[in-house]
Amino acid sequence: MDARVQLSDRLRAEIDARREDVTALTQALIRIPTVNPPGEGYREICEFVGRRLERAGYAVELLRATGAPGDSEKYPRWNVVGRREGRGAGETVHFNSHHDVVETGPGWTTDPFGGEVRDGKVFGRGACDMKGGLAASIIAAEAFAAVVPDYLGAIEISATADEETGGYGGVAWLAEQGYFSPSRVQHVIIPEPLNKDRVCLGHRGVWWAEIETHGRIAHGSMPFLGDSAIRHMGAVLTEMEETLFPALAKRTTAMPVVPPQARQSSMNINSIHGGLPEPEEGFTGFPAAVVPHSTRLVIDRRYLIEEAPDAVRQEVVDLLEKVKAERPGFRYDIRDLWTVPPTMTARDAPIVAAVSRAIGEVLGVAPEYVVSPGTYDQKHIDRIGRLHNCIAYGPGILDLAHQPDEYVGIDDMLDSAKVMALALLELIGPRP
Ligand SMILES: [Zn+2]
Repeated sequence: MDARVQLSDRLRAEIDARREDVTALTQALIRIPTVNPPGEGYREICEFVGRRLERAGYAVELLRATGAPGDSEKYPRWNVVGRREGRGAGETVHFNSHHDVVETGPGWTTDPFGGEVRDGKVFGRGACDMKGGLAASIIAAEAFAAVVPDYLGAIEISATADEETGGYGGVAWLAEQGYFSPSRVQHVIIPEPLNKDRVCLGHRGVWWAEIETHGRIAHGSMPFLGDSAIRHMGAVLTEMEETLFPALAKRTTAMPVVPPQARQSSMNINSIHGGLPEPEEGFTGFPAAVVPHSTRLVIDRRYLIEEAPDAVRQEVVDLLEKVKAERPGFRYDIRDLWTVPPTMTARDAPIVAAVSRAIGEVLGVAPEYVVSPGTYDQKHIDRIGRLHNCIAYGPGILDLAHQPDEYVGIDDMLDSAKVMALALLELIGPRP
């Protein structure tokens, strides 16, 4: 049997032998509630992961994103990065997981922070998104170092803050400090729950903006003396329904976004606020009779790699200008709230090729290439780190993320750990 096949077999056996280990590790991670917002337990989980990595021979750094959005003395934004050097010069493969989870919400039939094991699954908030992925990557790297101690280059594992709230106190901050620069790291896998036979190449773009229409306050009994900002916004909404939404629905993309309904450009009207503020709770009287002088509309536009960010914005500005030309007294402001350009790693990038071959070897199927409808931390690695050899690949079912009774399958964790370990073998294994 040739040496490569032997190593592959030994790696898979080594991972199968760690079934109890990956289960217990996932349970332990779930039992540290790292709910964000506000960002609880960050230091505790980083210390826990740091101790585990130190025992496995990693140089570990605990890093607080001091001054990042969300960082405070009460809720410090802690991150942990471990690096394990091989026996010679080579490239670095980095596994990045976010350690924060969203709130539990109603509807649980098991303790969200209990880590119950039932029917081959570990249950709990963050089980699939993404403490199971973090555990799988740790097991994969430990098994790899045990079977292939003479690997070249380095392995890095990080657990980072705040992905659920934009990642500014986590991956964005680390990228600004140079942790994802191509001179330090060449390959990144983010073990988000995208299913074990899928390679996620990137995500659509995001543009959030607030549009405000202005009016003139007057007595509600004499609206002709004022100018209604709500009616002006109504004209904006009508124009959006008649021209913008149909135009967005017609746009197609080469991005393999899942679900397929997200394979077009989209816009959500996030909120609308006009007129007087809501009365205090318990107030039973009438609102004051006034003409509303201001209305604010927040839009959440998701766009495709074929669309330029400037054009996405200009399209909405043009729509507002059209309404303005048609409507006497129409005045507006538009404020940008948040922008993330779309990102899509090339299908022939080294990390995509290595993980794809490993999926074929472990699962016996061709991988499905997908793109996420929403963003995740790849945006910061791509844009701040300028590292384009990055994918999301990990165990778990995306639909379960943020749901009650979230779980991750133990077999799925083992299978995806095998894929990760075989990718390591290809990227930093000893050269024949
Ligand atoms: Zn996630």
